[in-house]
Amino acid sequence: MPPLVLVGCTLVTNVCTSNAIFGSNHKVTSVTEVLAIPSLGLVHPVWMERFPWLCQGCTIRSVDGVLYDFGFLSGGSSTESVQKNWSTLLDVTGATSIAHGHQVHGTKIFTHETASAGLNLFPDCDGHVTNSAGVLLAVTTADCVPIFLVDADRRAIAVLHAGWRGIAAGILDCGIRALREHSGSWPVDLMMHLGPSICGACYEVGTEVFEVLGQPIPRRPSPIDLRKILAQKADKTGIPLTNITVSDHCTRCTESDLFSHRAGDMGRQVSYIGLRP
Ligand SMILES: [Zn+2]
Repeated sequence: MPPLVLVGCTLVTNVCTSNAIFGSNHKVTSVTEVLAIPSLGLVHPVWMERFPWLCQGCTIRSVDGVLYDFGFLSGGSSTESVQKNWSTLLDVTGATSIAHGHQVHGTKIFTHETASAGLNLFPDCDGHVTNSAGVLLAVTTADCVPIFLVDADRRAIAVLHAGWRGIAAGILDCGIRALREHSGSWPVDLMMHLGPSICGACYEVGTEVFEVLGQPIPRRPSPIDLRKILAQKADKTGIPLTNITVSDHCTRCTESDLFSHRAGDMGRQVSYIGLRP
């Protein structure tokens, strides 16, 4: 695989200091996703150039002044308006179906050979894998980390929903394993992007969270950087650091027009990835 070439991408090294993931010599690249069209949301500029067969992004909180909320169970918008937003996403991505699930901060992952036309909701799952074109995989978030995985050679993809509970339970390992079992993908062949989520400066948690994530335990509640921990875990599983990118968008502190649970929002953005039909 050729080295990562940054095309039309803003390299961010001084906006979100929490993204200095491996110190001054870190090889993990921060990227600023760019707004494609409002209803497609923020897309990875490098992947967009490099993988034209891929459809990937994270929606923003409003389009034309109207909330663009994808949360069925988060207590925000009406079911009718949420359904309408899912229909809009289906239309603008050109996908034939969407695979989404009731997310429970667990590690269950569904693989999709096919999916019925339209929106498919699966019970209790936090990740999706496919190598079928036209199936759009989707997770909703409002501070948690959306993890995108791509095996470009085998055209296999995954999206995972990762809050601290899911990370502690091993959602990343489960996603990598699902890609291996379903498509024969090896970690060394994977590209990984950690999408828009709450940053390491904004996310204060209790000491028990540090403990379950295997981090040095502070004396008092302190900020934690879930994307940094995920990048370290990915490195340990064999995903090359040069294949990992991290969004510099924070749901809380950057002006990115995203929902933040910590900020009191009940809406949810959706992170999606699919192989173009
Ligand atoms: Zn922040």
